[in-house]
Amino acid sequence: MIAGNRTINYLRISITDRCNFRCRYCVPSIPFRVIEHEKIARYEEILRIVRLGCDLGITKVRITGGEPFVRKDILSFLEQLCAIDRLKDISITTNGSLLNREKIEKLISLGIKRMNFSLDTLDPVKFEQITCRDRFHQVWNAIFTSHELGINPIKINAVILRGINDDEIEALTALTLEYPFHIRFIEYMPMGDSAVEKQQQVLSEEIKEKIESRFGTLQAFKKDPNDGPAKKFRIDGAKGIVGFITPISSHFCAECNRLRLTSRGTLRPCLLNNYEKNIINPLRNGASDDELKDIILSALARKPSFHGLTGSSVKGVPISHMTSIGG
Ligand code: SAM
Ligand code: SF4
Repeated sequence: MIAGNRTINYLRISITDRCNFRCRYCVPSIPFRVIEHEKIARYEEILRIVRLGCDLGITKVRITGGEPFVRKDILSFLEQLCAIDRLKDISITTNGSLLNREKIEKLISLGIKRMNFSLDTLDPVKFEQITCRDRFHQVWNAIFTSHELGINPIKINAVILRGINDDEIEALTALTLEYPFHIRFIEYMPMGDSAVEKQQQVLSEEIKEKIESRFGTLQAFKKDPNDGPAKKFRIDGAKGIVGFITPISSHFCAECNRLRLTSRGTLRPCLLNNYEKNIINPLRNGASDDELKDIILSALARKPSFHGLTGSSVKGVPISHMTSIGG
């Protein structure tokens, strides 16, 4: 599928808006309602959309949420997803708190080879302050069990917030010295009504300076064509990678190869633009495969060339919050 001059081969699927965490940068600080169960796309509906996406050139899928592992029967859904042989790459983004050895072994047996975890601090107390949950050790164990069982790469996403965890940058980076992890510093995106002060959160340059003053000059690391938007670096002699994902200070819209399917069954061509096209209602009303493919293509035709948020215009942007879209 083509959008402008971008080839779209990557579908990011949020299978739930529910989450067992309440990360301050992610969930709204004001009361919010979860989506009613009957409005959530059912697994068989998602699988049909994925197969149609494959007809149109989708080869990569990432499962996200909310927290994907709070959804019932996710493993049997993943089994069916992994059986779609036109998908060359299936991965998951998770907070890791609900993953034990048995589940990780199952994921590996299904063919899931890589995982993204979210972890913003190595301090259990700070972890609870950020996520509102006392689950640091479960997440830590899930990351190291995945490593031990051979998941590779393990990417760890950290959103660095000024005055909250900006003193964790060196400790997170130091993990790359010993482990082949990719530690990715993600710029805070001003979504919805999160409790985070929206100004002065564009920290990528400061993060890089801190890392270099502690560990020496970061060496640019070659990206391979399947890499996402992270700019990759390595500390001299390190086993892992340090990545920067900079949607605000240096957007990567020109290379964006993604389409999103939200848990409500809408197609969202851009994370930071509220346009969505409903596909679930036509699907439930009996649309044919060709009609659904037209809907996918018409959503993509609305993919903006640039999200329009920059460092100076991030204040109060009314973007839907992340759990409702799928980060
Ligand atoms: N619950 C899973 C997790 O935390 O990995 C998957 C969903 S979460 C929405 C996906 C990613 O979005 C996480 O890595 C999280 O750190 C990131 N995220 C959430 N809100 C964000 C925000 N406002 N700015 C930047 N990244 C954000
Ligand atoms: Fe849940 Fe992930 Fe959002 Fe944290 S970042 S609240 S774990 S969806």
